[in-house]
Amino acid sequence: MSETIFSRIIRGELPCHRLYEDEHVLAFLDIFPLSPGHTLVIPKQAVATLDQLSDDASAAIGRVLPRLCRAVMAATGVSDYNILQNNGAAAHQAVFHVHFHIIPKPSAEAGLGIGWPAQKLGDSDGQDMAEKIRGQLK
Ligand code: 5GP
Repeated sequence: MSETIFSRIIRGELPCHRLYEDEHVLAFLDIFPLSPGHTLVIPKQAVATLDQLSDDASAAIGRVLPRLCRAVMAATGVSDYNILQNNGAAAHQAVFHVHFHIIPKPSAEAGLGIGWPAQKLGDSDGQDMAEKIRGQLK
């Protein structure tokens, strides 16, 4: 369990602009939006990273996330958007309670900017890595 500022928002101890709430999920506006409509979708289960989230909480987020995206798109009139989900400080996570960002992308300059230092996957590297990951899924 990790107690963060989001636990206090869930309990209503801190204010937020609430958009949606059910048994497992809360959605509210980000206090420092990258673009108008920037929304945070969080499970009520207080865990730091996505890999720690229960199946029930994950399913509840999955059920409502597309509906929230549609609402943000309709409200902002912006059809392009990014879903961002950071895990760990090195991956730019600042609040250690799982959250999904819905970030409208109104123009090339506004919204989320992404560095993408891609390199072509070699055949044997791909085979080795796929084997390792498949092994962990068993
Ligand atoms: P992270 O970098 O952890 O993925 O993003 C955390 C997000 O939470 C940031 O975009 C930040 O603006 C937002 N945030 C941090 N504290 C608060 C708060 O008290 N209220 C709201 N609404 N958003 C917050």
